[in-house]
Amino acid sequence: MNRVEAIRVLLVEDEAGDAHLVKLKLRRAQSEHFDVVWVQSLIEAQRCLAASAFDVMLLDLSLPDSEGLATVHSARDMAMGIPIVVLSGRGDTDFALTVLEAGAVDYMVKGDFGYDGLARVIRYALLRTEMETRNNLLIAALEAAANGIVITDKDATVIWANSAFGRLTGYSPEEAVGRKPSELVKSGLQNGSFYQDMWANLLVGQHWRGELVNKRKNGSLYHEELNIAPVKNSAGEITHFIGIKEDITERKEMEAQLQRLASTDPLTGLFNRRVFLEQLELERAKVARLPHYSAVLLMLDLDFFKRVNDAYGHATGDIVLKAFAEIARNTSRAIDISARLGGEEFAILLSGADKNDALIMAERLREQVAATVIDHDAGPVQITVSIGATMLSAADINAEAVLHRADVALYEAKDRGRNQTCWFDS
Ligand code: GH3
Ligand code: MG
Ligand code: MG
Repeated sequence: MNRVEAIRVLLVEDEAGDAHLVKLKLRRAQSEHFDVVWVQSLIEAQRCLAASAFDVMLLDLSLPDSEGLATVHSARDMAMGIPIVVLSGRGDTDFALTVLEAGAVDYMVKGDFGYDGLARVIRYALLRTEMETRNNLLIAALEAAANGIVITDKDATVIWANSAFGRLTGYSPEEAVGRKPSELVKSGLQNGSFYQDMWANLLVGQHWRGELVNKRKNGSLYHEELNIAPVKNSAGEITHFIGIKEDITERKEMEAQLQRLASTDPLTGLFNRRVFLEQLELERAKVARLPHYSAVLLMLDLDFFKRVNDAYGHATGDIVLKAFAEIARNTSRAIDISARLGGEEFAILLSGADKNDALIMAERLREQVAATVIDHDAGPVQITVSIGATMLSAADINAEAVLHRADVALYEAKDRGRNQTCWFDS
């Protein structure tokens, strides 16, 4: 610390001899210039502190208006953060420690210090106060951060956490200290290799970033983006880790929502044409690759649907489309993929099914649709569906080839009078 201006010292000492000695020593100190204001009691000290600013207080403990440890307590209360250096006639270590615990930054035995000794102690007291102020500022900044911040030792045991950590995880900083984050928030949804990869990076001193699902104290799950930075000492050894946690649950839900919007038909909730074609292509490739694997494509088109719209209006038509989608969903197996290709045209991909399975399923669906009465304000509506079916073949060069065959079969079903299933026969 290189100060240009003088260090303002409040000397609280009732014995004139001691006070003169201190003033003399500070005057003769080489390194610094001191402005000393001398008072003889705590009450006078209080008056001085109220009237002007000081950098440090030198405090004798035996004063006319206060004695011993009580002097430190009172002085600390009135000093408002100014460092206090105690000057005492007592040279015993235990008492000195009690004085430091009471809030003094240093303790000197009168008569034991030289010119520069006292100056050095004052300088150190100022430096320490400056560092404490800085430390408090940094902590305030970490506390103000929206992200959860956690500091662990090298064994990943928490030594400090901010309050955002508490808001994120449900564990207060006090609860977290002394425990490992893994004991607190691990959800079990990341596998072992996830953490191995993380530690592999951290232990060689590299920063790590990842997204994970963690568990709050109340058991609920949340998505977190976690950044971990190892902290090294001057010898290059890792001593601590700093973890920064951001709650990305909302973002993840938004992404999932966008994903849903991009892959499903908004009216029926079934997959859209794009996703269906991708799945059909994957299934076609699987049929081509696996000798004994089979799959069937059903194309479905509502019969005389235009009449429903014409008779009851477009809104009712929509209700009917939804009702049909619901029947299709309920009739198919979990592994089947149902989609709305457009308008009143649907498709179902029956993975692993043979001709027999597929015809049973198609007929069940067709009968179910014909038997369903859809209620609405203008009265009950009944519909039928025509279905064209075809096997996926190892000879199919693309998904369009399969779709074309199913379409041909569908038109045959329409031609033959609708409300039936036709199998494509070459
Ligand atoms: P077919 O038995 O030959 O299939 O007769 P159809 O009347 O069902 O066939 P067409 O292709 O002539 O008519 C389909 C109708 O489906 C026409 C169109 O207005 C209606 N449509 C298409 N998309 C929607 C939709 O999203 N909502 C409603 N309500 N109607 C739709
Ligand atoms: Mg139709
Ligand atoms: Mg049509």
